[in-house]
Amino acid sequence: MKKCKQCGSTMKEDAWEEIHLMDDHMIVDSFLAWVCEKQCGYYEKMNGDIQDAN
Ligand SMILES: [Zn+2]
Repeated sequence: MKKCKQCGSTMKEDAWEEIHLMDDHMIVDSFLAWVCEKQCGYYEKMNGDIQDAN
């Protein structure tokens, strides 16, 4: 089980997005990430090689 490095809670697999504000436009970057269940703000981006946990 993956643990949050910030608060120690369990992390879950989730869709996540980062919004980058540019001078005249914004970029929304969507990806799969490990996200802290306590929503403390910590997450880890997955690197594309997603394994099926079944
Ligand atoms: Zn956390």
